[in-house]
Amino acid sequence: MEFERRFASEEACRAYLVSLRWPEGIRCLRCHSPSVWATVRGLYHCTFCGHQTSVLAGTIFQDTKADLRLWFRAMWYVTNQKSGVSALGLQRTLGLGSYRTAWTWLHKLRAAMVRPGRERLTGTVEVDETYWGGPQPGKHGRGAAGKTLIVVAAQVDGSRVGRIRLCRVPNTSAPSLERAVQAAVEPGSVIRTDGLPSYSRLVDRGYVHEVVRKETAVGENLLPRVNRVVALLKRWLLGIHQGRVSKTHLDAYLDEFTFRFNRRTSRWRGKLFYRLVQQAVAVDARPVKRLRRQLVAA
Ligand SMILES: [Zn+2]
Repeated sequence: MEFERRFASEEACRAYLVSLRWPEGIRCLRCHSPSVWATVRGLYHCTFCGHQTSVLAGTIFQDTKADLRLWFRAMWYVTNQKSGVSALGLQRTLGLGSYRTAWTWLHKLRAAMVRPGRERLTGTVEVDETYWGGPQPGKHGRGAAGKTLIVVAAQVDGSRVGRIRLCRVPNTSAPSLERAVQAAVEPGSVIRTDGLPSYSRLVDRGYVHEVVRKETAVGENLLPRVNRVVALLKRWLLGIHQGRVSKTHLDAYLDEFTFRFNRRTSRWRGKLFYRLVQQAVAVDARPVKRLRRQLVAA
């Protein structure tokens, strides 16, 4: 009810987007001048260059024909369902006309779940790979045909899992695994892996490398945090999405899982909503462009 009151009008939604996009005041999108005035059509006219800026320009809401209130309800629903939502669930909840629209909206929201320039993990981080799709293969590339390889990085937080990063990689070669580690973890951190030789040059990349060897104690869970994340990820992909996650969209699902996992302990669900809206207006053009390509390809 508080949500419905707060975002009761298109103007209230727009004002909220403006406050998150320009916390220090509205700026012209073309020349960055702060000297703008609001037009009757909800745009901001630049007195310096004459450009009319929309708060929706360059965000996932650009070119939307739907009422922003509907978008806000979608974001509220998506952030309040702890384990995520399906396109069908979203369609039914919002009463959207088509499944296709619900599906497209979910993908746009997933694009907003990747924060531009998000910081890398630090401290001690467990790293391992897992496969997605097809029958379970042996580890490290044996029988990997047709399957997708994902590198999982899980921060050690006492006995718990801290934040995570997931990254799709083409194979288990040293260059691809090192690239994944470099994208996910700040140099200087401690990386804990199994004895796979591809990780052996992490020290040269500026990391402290700890090898937990499988042969030391048979049956012992040597990378417990990363294994827990892998189990949860697979259950999530199989559960909410019935395992129907195509390779084309796997990155988007990995982003959504990461977004939810890293905020799983937020007691105030409103914070998740706030983050999602904030990222929806801060999102750079790259993931949106990637998304457009995927939507065209689908
Ligand atoms: Zn301007």
